[in-house]
This record gives sequence, C-alpha cells and structure tokens, in this order.
Amino acid sequence: MKSDYIVTEPSTPTSARLAPKLAIGAGIFAVAFYLAGERTQDKPETQARTPPAQNEISLVARASDTRSLLDDIAPISSAQAAVAPPNAALTDTGRSSAALQDLATQAPPLPPEPAEEANLVRLESRELVVKNGDSLSILFDRNGLKPIDWMALAKLDGTAKRLLRLRPGDKLMLGLDDQQRVAALDMRIDDTQTLRIRRDDDGKFQQTLLVDDLSVREVAVEGVIENSLFLSAKAAGLSDRLTMELTDIFAWDVDFALDIRAGDRFRVIYEELYRDGKLLKEGNILAAEFTNRGDALRAVRYVDSDERAAYYAPDGKPMKKAFLRSPVDFTRISSRFSMGRKHPILNKIRAHKGVDYAAPRGTPIKAAGAGKVVFAGNKGGYGRVVILQHAGKYQTLYAHLNSFRRGIRKGVSVSQGDTIAYVGMSGLATGPHLHYEFLVGGKHVDPLRVKLPSAPPIASAEMERFQSQTATLLAKLDDFAPTTGNALVASAGENPGQP
Ligand SMILES: [Zn+2]
Repeated sequence: MKSDYIVTEPSTPTSARLAPKLAIGAGIFAVAFYLAGERTQDKPETQARTPPAQNEISLVARASDTRSLLDDIAPISSAQAAVAPPNAALTDTGRSSAALQDLATQAPPLPPEPAEEANLVRLESRELVVKNGDSLSILFDRNGLKPIDWMALAKLDGTAKRLLRLRPGDKLMLGLDDQQRVAALDMRIDDTQTLRIRRDDDGKFQQTLLVDDLSVREVAVEGVIENSLFLSAKAAGLSDRLTMELTDIFAWDVDFALDIRAGDRFRVIYEELYRDGKLLKEGNILAAEFTNRGDALRAVRYVDSDERAAYYAPDGKPMKKAFLRSPVDFTRISSRFSMGRKHPILNKIRAHKGVDYAAPRGTPIKAAGAGKVVFAGNKGGYGRVVILQHAGKYQTLYAHLNSFRRGIRKGVSVSQGDTIAYVGMSGLATGPHLHYEFLVGGKHVDPLRVKLPSAPPIASAEMERFQSQTATLLAKLDDFAPTTGNALVASAGENPGQP
C-alpha cells in the first residue's frame, strides 16, 4: 500500500499560508504528526488507544501515489478512524511538530476527506526529555521502549549522530506505532534546525534535517534615565541583557558607575528573531545612541569583509579603545541605582587625584587597558596597590585592594578587562572602595575626563563598504521612530519580518 499521512485534529483550523506548502510537503515527506493539547512528558504509555487522547498523534494514511515512509504501520479500522474526524488536515510542511502546532492554530478549516478514513493510522506521541547522564539507551530503557529501536537509531550517521551526544533538556518527540516501535522522531538541534527521522517501507530509519527560516524585525526604543539606567531601559522596553550590551558598547566612553545623570538618554535599534511568526529571541544591537550629560555618542554595528562584527562610531573609529572608562563593573557599584543626586556615588573625590568607586569587598577590578604590572605591593596609606604601565606614557593605579589576583606581580602582562585584584579597604580607607588613578606622562589626570588615544579607524579600503552598510541605520537614529513592543506583534500573529 502506498499511503500519505495527514494529521487530524478535531478543533484545529488550517492556515491559508499553509496551502502552498501543503503540496510541496506532501511530495517530500509522507508523515506529519501534530500534538493535540497538553503532552505527557517522559511518561511511559503502554498502548495506543482510541479515541485519541490528549497525548496521541493521529495520522491519517491516505491512499495516494505519494511515497510513504510509514507503510509498515498497520492502518486501524475505519470504525476507529471515524473517532477522529479528519476535518482539519495538515500535511508535513517540512517543519517541526512545534512549528506545525503554530501553523495549525492559525489555520482556516479544510473540508473533511471521508475517503481517507478507511486507512487511518494512529501513532502515539511521546515526548522524552533528556536528563543529566542520559544516553539514548538509558532514555529508551527508562521509557519502556524497545532496545532494537535505539540500537538502530544509534547506527545512523550524519546529523543523527547527535542522538549519541544527548544533552540534558533535549527533547525527543516520538511517534510510536501500536507495537510501541518508533516510527517517527523529531528533535530540535538548535534555534533553526530539527532532526527528523522516519521509518521507511523497509523498516529502516531515514533522516532529514529541517531548517527553519528566521525572520528578523528591527525594533527601536528610546528612553530618558530618571533614577536608574536599568529601570528606565526596562520602561522603554529594553531587556536587561540588551541594557548590559548597550553599556558594553559605550564602556570605553562612558563611566556607567560614576557618570550617569538623570536626563541622560538612549536610543537603541536592535533585532528580534522570529520563527514561524513567534518571537524566538533578541538579536544584536544594530545601532545605538547614548547621550551622557548632553554629549551624544553613537555606535553602529558593522560586520567587516572578514566577517568580524564590532561597533564603530559613525566616522569609522572603533568604539573599543585602549582604556575602559571604569575598571569595575558598574553593576557591582553599591549605589548603582541611586542616581539623580549631585554626587551619585559615595566618595567621589577629585581633589586627591583619583576616583573612588564604592563597591563591596571582593568586587573584581579590571585592568583598564592592556599593559604590564610595574608594581604590586604595599604603599603606605594606599594599602595594597597595583600599578600598570600601558603603551606609551600611560599608567593606571589601583589602591586599597583587598587582595591581588593570583599571578599578579611585577613584570606580568595583562590584557584589557583582565581581573587584576579585588576591592578592599587596605591602607587608610573608611570603607571598601577602589581608589583609581590615571597618569599621563607621570601626571595625574581625571580618569573620567581624560582624552584617551583613539584607535585607528576602519581601513580606507573598507571605508566605502562601512559607510554604505551603516548609512541606513545611522539615518534611523536621526529620524528616530520608536516601534511597538514585541508582545503586540507576536500576538497579532503576523509575519513580523518587515514593517
Ligand atoms: Zn580615593
């Protein structure tokens, strides 16, 4: 018997946009399964049942000239078939079962196809969730499945070898026949790829790799900082992760620990990635503007011809510079959320040639720039001190340390951002804080205000490419048009790929 499989689910409408794929899908894959409602997780089921329960996959085997991968699954009787009214038909569209579910929920109904009822095949669905220490055999064993199936699956090569490297949290969607043999298996491998295995006419497993297209939507948000960068960003619709990324982009120019003021503003254009019309995750920040004390800084993401992505100022100079503005992670600064006061951070003392960052004892201190340790030891009232010599005439000094990082001693080279020591209150200090000094040619300068050497801009050969690829984004920062939040778009069920 040659048969085609369509999925039936009583109350499910079918999609208009499914229609063109229906024809394609039917030719490529003969099997689809669709899960109705809640699934039972990782719980052995001992028999296929009718009428279809919530955790069953209903497959209709339709006599047709389409090649079937599941011919060896015995059709159930037409009496049983009548139990599941096949009023909503879905064929495999080359998508995962989860995607099918998405499609199914958006679909207008198709007319019933009563002729198919004679050849209905029903697979029981089972979702296996991989736990710590699981192998394919352990997983199958625990779920009462037959060794012959995992043995055959384990012999597959190519993408299916992933089944031999299961990770906790992996989900195997199985379709089991009435002998509790695996007839179908879907496993999502990453955000876009699904491994699909079907048993063919000869009882052999055949695999396919399904690839989802992600659609990308640009989102634009802006906000004004009132009390807290994070709170204002959240109010503007920016996640904490993107807010951190925003501060990372500007970390060489703005000291987010000491320099943020009420009234500072930000504009961010970033990507949202959608799979089947549903928000999958946030992508990269594409362009951003941060206005700190009236100075507007801009950054744009650029992927150069060697596929390296980095953020640049509009003139092509890298945002990344020789020195970080702040040698401590601003989120560790104890009063990071209390802005708007005149001196937002405790003990901001310029007179004594440095800047103090109040932070809990043990907070890691980062090398502001790449350099070499020229001093690591005690210096009177400064307590424990590290001094770094950087390229050219620059030195940075870190005082009142609780301890040095292991391996930090005179002569050792460090990279920018390396942890060199930990905040403490050694020497003459009234509370745990980092005392930080910046020296140019042996003279103290204000680390918050010093003009730092700028890195060379994008190579001139690449400049034209940079300008043509970033012009649109930079224009969007000029003509800023905030977009609605992702929740609205997602619930509208529209393809959000284009505005
Ligand atoms: Zn100080």
